[in-house]
Amino acid sequence: MGKLYDELAQDYRVKEGLKACINCGTCTAICPAAEFYRYDPRKIVDIVQSQDDEAIEKLLKSDVIWYCGECMSCVTRCPRKNAPGLIIMALRNLSAKKGYFICSEKGRQLYPLTKILTGNILNFGYCVYPQTFKWEDHPESGPVWKWHCEHLEDSLARNGANYKGEGPGALRRIPQESLDELKAIFDVTGGTERIETVNKYSKIKAEQMGMDMEEYFRHTFNDTEKDHLNE
Ligand code: SF4
Ligand code: SF4
Repeated sequence: MGKLYDELAQDYRVKEGLKACINCGTCTAICPAAEFYRYDPRKIVDIVQSQDDEAIEKLLKSDVIWYCGECMSCVTRCPRKNAPGLIIMALRNLSAKKGYFICSEKGRQLYPLTKILTGNILNFGYCVYPQTFKWEDHPESGPVWKWHCEHLEDSLARNGANYKGEGPGALRRIPQESLDELKAIFDVTGGTERIETVNKYSKIKAEQMGMDMEEYFRHTFNDTEKDHLNE
């Protein structure tokens, strides 16, 4: 048993999610991500079960662990009651903690994801917030969203939202004391530490790639370096 496996085995998601894999492949057959990406949850579970640290480290540095959509369809079908989706969450957690996520393109996307989502949660109390949603970053959302972003306040008012308003209603302003509570929750649950770790390693990678943090953010958010899809 290696050190990385020891660390993984301490994670409740591995304790609960890995009993005894019989390598049957049912999880891969049901997995929607395996349909689109070069991705096989059966192999991932097999590697973790092997307890081979060298293979686990390679996995933590790869794109593969970031393809999972965390839908947990695999959990419902595994004949051994394993939870590949939970094991992958534990692998992602360890990859982030060790800084291995910067070794893969999909892993590096942790930086923009963390910056946008935690920024929205801590500053506004929402995961996705109209003020920080830029249509240019999501052209796949189509012309309706472009129009919506250009007529934001009018559109939200017509839909009955209380955007930035006091009192109840969708998208209301979240009081500062509630935002302070959210920050305190991040502090005690390790969220703040996670943000700092992601930022620290991303800065190292940005320097290695000769980019400042804004360029690195744009690059990791928008650019595709290689083909990840199944033929
Ligand atoms: S379905 Fe369960 S037993 Fe079968 S390969 Fe996946 S994790 Fe292993
Ligand atoms: S949780 Fe991940 S591995 Fe499991 S079925 Fe969903 S996408 Fe596939």
